[in-house]
Amino acid sequence: MYDVAIVGGGLAGLVNAILTKKKGHSVVLFEEKEYPFHRVCGEYISNEVIPFLKSNDLFPEELNPSAITKFRLTSTSGKVLAMDLDLGGFGISRYSFDHWLVKKALALGVELHEKERVNAITFESDHHKIETRNGNYESKLVIGSFGKKARLDKDLNRNFVQKKSPYIGVKYHIKTNLVAEDIIELHNFSRGYCGVSKVENDIYNLCYLSHRNNLRKHKDIPSMEQEVVHKNPLLRQLFTESEFLFQKPIVINEISFEKKEPIFNHILMSGDSAGMITPLCGNGMAMAIHSAKMLSEVANEFLLEQIDRSQMEKAYASAWNTTFSARHWAGRKIQNLFGSSASSEFAVGLGKSFRPFAKYLMSKTHGQPF
Ligand SMILES: Cc1cc2nc3c(=O)[nH]c(=O)nc-3n(C[C@H](O)[C@H](O)[C@H](O)COP(=O)(O)OP(=O)(O)OC[C@H]3O[C@@H](n4cnc5c(N)ncnc54)[C@H](O)[C@@H]3O)c2cc1C
Repeated sequence: MYDVAIVGGGLAGLVNAILTKKKGHSVVLFEEKEYPFHRVCGEYISNEVIPFLKSNDLFPEELNPSAITKFRLTSTSGKVLAMDLDLGGFGISRYSFDHWLVKKALALGVELHEKERVNAITFESDHHKIETRNGNYESKLVIGSFGKKARLDKDLNRNFVQKKSPYIGVKYHIKTNLVAEDIIELHNFSRGYCGVSKVENDIYNLCYLSHRNNLRKHKDIPSMEQEVVHKNPLLRQLFTESEFLFQKPIVINEISFEKKEPIFNHILMSGDSAGMITPLCGNGMAMAIHSAKMLSEVANEFLLEQIDRSQMEKAYASAWNTTFSARHWAGRKIQNLFGSSASSEFAVGLGKSFRPFAKYLMSKTHGQPF
């Protein structure tokens, strides 16, 4: 009987594993892939996480993250809005950051099961049973950190899986001298947008979200990029004049921003499993880390028998809703604002001529330091 079983080893799972293990609990972490690996992600982390990461010795200074202080937004036609970021962020590849956290977790004594997918989680007699291809496990607590939409969500029959997930995500690493080291750029195209910013060393992340109808219409990724993405002149220049480091892009589909539950069948959800913010708001990673901090605090009280399961669940749901619900709502609204070429032209134009509007939108995309 483990104290904690964690399903999914992205940022949420890894930070939960490290924090609960540091409190002295037995922790098993299941990850279906093998580290290190690339993920579709813009790899820009809001600076709101820095106080927490530094105070827990989890800031990856030695990996040479970039420091990002400026923002540039373009509409589909290439209209430009430039401004400073109030809080800013840093750039680090998930390939390096996740792997660095895995090593920290292992050093603390977290039991890691890589290449082991969890197939089922059931709850009876006040504990969980976890089923994988390799065996069955039991734990007092399960943390669900299996990401935006996993097969497990369908097997658990969570409500949000019934709704459509109309977006695909595509990521590259590139070398370019078209983008400054301290800027994050966001370029719109019809029914999508593409971010570019520096990560560690001399590498830049180029990552976009597109409505799947763009792909349906143009059959494959290269044709879609040619016919839709390159319509923005700044993107065309980036795609044609940069050095692409991957042989082919990393692609994910079924991206959903639907509302989810932070607790489902006594599983405490963390990161994207509890709710995925639109990438336009650029801080899903910060929220994954923040949710892990909140969750591990109540989990610790439960495991020390200071509160019972129902008190733990109520406390976590309440903390999650207070901290994140309004941000998710704003994320969906901002996503709609950039849903079409016409609306993105309008929003960029309005931001250029009316700075308080641009500042307001910006304030909605970053949280408070914690
Ligand atoms: C196009 C795009 C761009 C983005 N850009 C940014 C950005 O610039 N900044 C930012 O902060 N956020 C960004 N995000 C969001 C960010 O990537 C996520 O919010 C973040 O990765 C969430 O972390 P997580 O730990 O919850 O999930 P993940 O990192 O997705 O980890 C989930 C893990 O669970 C594993 N898993 C799933 N099912 C199982 C199972 N049954 N058994 C075992 N393991 C399982 C998966 O293999 C995966 O490793 C972007 C997202 C997209 C789609």
